[in-house]
Amino acid sequence: AKENGRNQLFFFEPQMQQTLKRRQQMELALKQALVKQEFQVFYQPKVNTFGTIIGYEALIRWQHPEFGLVSPDSFIPLAESTGLIIDIDSWVLENACQQINKLSSQGQALSIAVNVSQRQLARKDFVELVSNIVVASGIDPTLLELEITESMLNDDLENTRKKLDALSQLGILFSLDDFGTGYSSLYYLQKLPMNVLKIDQSFVRAFLTQETDYAIVKTIIAMAKALSLKVVAEGVEQQEQYEALIALECDFFQGYLFGKPAPLV
Ligand code: C2E
Ligand code: CA
Ligand code: CA
Ligand code: CA
Repeated sequence: AKENGRNQLFFFEPQMQQTLKRRQQMELALKQALVKQEFQVFYQPKVNTFGTIIGYEALIRWQHPEFGLVSPDSFIPLAESTGLIIDIDSWVLENACQQINKLSSQGQALSIAVNVSQRQLARKDFVELVSNIVVASGIDPTLLELEITESMLNDDLENTRKKLDALSQLGILFSLDDFGTGYSSLYYLQKLPMNVLKIDQSFVRAFLTQETDYAIVKTIIAMAKALSLKVVAEGVEQQEQYEALIALECDFFQGYLFGKPAPLV
């Protein structure tokens, strides 16, 4: 058994070293990405039942000269664990506020939703961080929406509620993202000042063929109505899905059918 163990260790070591090395490389590259201007913010439209664009979600992109286009799903967790996310999120928020101003100056009062990270939300000075950027930009705060996911909420809910309340007072809106994927979505809905529910795309993907998914989508929309919340369906890719969601009285829609995330010019 001992020899076996040693063999295993020997066998796995080079791979582990490689993984570790890659992680360290990524971390170093991520640290420099802001300065090297390798990040870009893409914007994905949200539409209403008439297909009119009512706003956008800001989604970060990292184009590395060597690694290529790195998905946020892979670098956001690394940015969270290293703390780099604080600077990254502030940068995205500033970019989003600039876009709100730009759209306003073109006569388009469209809202932009920005994803909040766990690390950012947990900061004592979260309210100051956000309000400083919002005030400095001069935007109408009601055009800014912050997206929170259940997975980033912890035991300190009372504290989180106070932070969200403070920013709500300024006029900023909040949406509960990836709704339905966690264990306590309803609990958070009860405790936090939310304005919008975003139905997770995992429910939307097959809701026209899977009865359970259809029932879930229908129920989430009905519940959102009952709670006076706006509801957004994510991951809408087909016309039939759009029409069925309209029939269920969903308010807003986001997905490749209306546009992929892209630079806003
Ligand atoms: P999310 O907030 O749930 O964002 C929605 C994701 O679904 C985006 O992936 C978007 O490109 C994708 N999507 C939109 N429509 C469709 C569709 O019709 N079909 C399919 N299959 N996918 C669709 P993306 O841009 O790769 O972002 C992944 C996640 O990374 C986001 O999930 C969010 O959690 C995180 N993220 C992205 N940008 C930021 C950011 O600036 N800050 C923070 N903290 N997190 C971010
Ligand atoms: Ca989101
Ligand atoms: Ca989502
Ligand atoms: Ca997500």
